[in-house]
Amino acid sequence: MEEKRCRRCGLLTVAGCTDTQRAALPYVLDPDPMDAVGELQATVAGRRTWTLHSSGAVHLRTAAVILTRPAGTPRQTVHADHACTGRGAR
Ligand SMILES: [Zn+2]
Repeated sequence: MEEKRCRRCGLLTVAGCTDTQRAALPYVLDPDPMDAVGELQATVAGRRTWTLHSSGAVHLRTAAVILTRPAGTPRQTVHADHACTGRGAR
């Protein structure tokens, strides 16, 4: 996981690849943590959401995880896929 500027819009993102034995999923996330309302809005918009754990681990959030560990749970933050507008602060 590293902070990286988006090549299209220039905004700071959190990028990396999950480290699991089942599948390695690449991700590019907006860096600002979201609350439960923000996660709902992101999900309705078709963006995936991810948990960033204080350990540095990153996991894709499933419906079951969203229900049992809502955004705002201690020791983790929730972030959505980067919503690139193609224009931003350069
Ligand atoms: Zn972008």
